[in-house]
Amino acid sequence: MALELDPTLLGILACPACHSNLSVDYEAKELICASQSCALAYPIRENIPIMLVDEARDTRPSRGFN
Ligand SMILES: [Zn+2]
Repeated sequence: MALELDPTLLGILACPACHSNLSVDYEAKELICASQSCALAYPIRENIPIMLVDEARDTRPSRGFN
């Protein structure tokens, strides 16, 4: 199913952690925080963005797996 998000909704959404703008990753179905120091990715489930820091994925390469 193709991801569809309301552009109006996107316009008012901001990262709950740092209040930066968000960009949509349609393939990963995530909303990515535009702040490089935050860079959290929020999942989109059934076209509903889950704007919860607890649910978000940290996309920063520096914070790691070691
Ligand atoms: Zn952020």
